[in-house]
Amino acid sequence: MKYLSTRSNHQPVGAAEAILLGMAPGGGLFVPESFPAFAPRPELSYQELAREILALYLDDYSAAELEQIVSQSYRADNFPAGVAPVRKVGERFMLELWHGPTLAFKDMALQIMPRLLTAAARKCGLRRELLILVATSGDTGKAALEGFKDVPGTRVLVFYPKDGVSAIQERQMLTTGGGNTGVFAVKGNFDDCQRAVKELFADEELKQSLYKAGLQFSSANSINWGRLVPQIVYYFHAYGQLLRNQWIEPEEKINVVVPTGNFGNILAACYAARMGLPVNKLLCASNSNNVLTDAINELTYDRRRPFYRTDSPSMDILVSSNFERLIFELYDRDGGRTAAAFSGLEKDGWFKIPPAVLGLFSGGCAGDARAARALAETFRTHAYLLDPHTAVAAAVEEDYRERTGDAHRALIVSTASPFKFPGAVLSALGEDVSALREEDQLARMSALSGLPVPPQLTGLGKEALSPLKVLEKGQLRQAVLELLG
Ligand SMILES: *Cc1c(COP(=O)(O)O)cnc(C)c1O
Repeated sequence: MKYLSTRSNHQPVGAAEAILLGMAPGGGLFVPESFPAFAPRPELSYQELAREILALYLDDYSAAELEQIVSQSYRADNFPAGVAPVRKVGERFMLELWHGPTLAFKDMALQIMPRLLTAAARKCGLRRELLILVATSGDTGKAALEGFKDVPGTRVLVFYPKDGVSAIQERQMLTTGGGNTGVFAVKGNFDDCQRAVKELFADEELKQSLYKAGLQFSSANSINWGRLVPQIVYYFHAYGQLLRNQWIEPEEKINVVVPTGNFGNILAACYAARMGLPVNKLLCASNSNNVLTDAINELTYDRRRPFYRTDSPSMDILVSSNFERLIFELYDRDGGRTAAAFSGLEKDGWFKIPPAVLGLFSGGCAGDARAARALAETFRTHAYLLDPHTAVAAAVEEDYRERTGDAHRALIVSTASPFKFPGAVLSALGEDVSALREEDQLARMSALSGLPVPPQLTGLGKEALSPLKVLEKGQLRQAVLELLG
């Protein structure tokens, strides 16, 4: 299997090289040259299914290698409640992707990606250590730290906006430990962090200093093929669970509803559909930052609009990087036209989408108040707690069904544990949380829902925090150099 750049600016490469490079050096994302057919296999365990599907795409990894990588990544002790269970809640199904070490769906990819990356480095004959830089608005940082912690041949540095993450998220990151991890708070917002990290990646002089110290930059962000391909697996696994429970008929088409930010998760669903998963519609759910809703429904991608901070911060994003891979398909894999569209986005802030086969997608958005209503209603009717991101998806699905009368069954992709966002969840349920400390909010949620506080959070208050290292926006380079000694 070869991988092509969406901007036709790089020769086709194998999977290991695509994962090691992250993206084509001149911009452009790697996409597989074809989508192999695959039929749902309800009899397979998550690990077995992952091996089958990854082998189709990562054919320069040996079967033994994939077997070892998969079984280490999706171990029972990392996913104590199962890897990706599906629950029936009323007439809808919840695909719970948050049973990993950090309670967010990012674990599904970031538990396996470091292993795929270090194997790729070996295959490509790289002898340097990989220095992974991550800018995070909260969830990715902790998931990357957990994924790379103590992985030989790697170091990982995470930069988060000082006042832009929740207290729980900050404490999660500062209690990681590990001999190869570093966490920095940056005075600024997420965009400042992201821009500063991009500058480091582009800094030739810094790159040379790293080389001399035996290191090389790498990235773990969601445009890397090594993060995208593992996400295809859980859509097939979820469909298998629906069949096994006889909740759907064989070959029955379903709607898949995905709370969306960078467009990685929903793109994996799109790829699964291309491989043969019976999908009727992919509902792309956004919060008030609804660029994608307009892009899908009005066929213009326009980032020139205000940026809102919402209760679903992991979806607060105006440029969804993985959307480029969809545009590449819509342009019949014409790299020149894809490149033109994205240079238009960079230069003018917008571009027009070809009026073609967006038919599989439908876009919808829900603001904080609408999502809170869905959260409260779901709890009142089914005693099931949604997190604020998944609540956006639930609201969008409900509005879509009312608007269209589409009666296909819905699989709602649940991307975070509600316990990760206790303030927003309790407020949505009408509780006054202003006087409660976070520990007490968690206890209150536990009492209301009858669920224990997840073990991943109970220790947080007691564990020692690494000292908080705060950087000015201009100090990231210095911080990296100090690490080299
Ligand atoms: C990252 C994230 C999303 C958005 O996923 P994308 O793949 O970036 O679209 C949604 N919900 C949660 C909780 C997340 O952490």
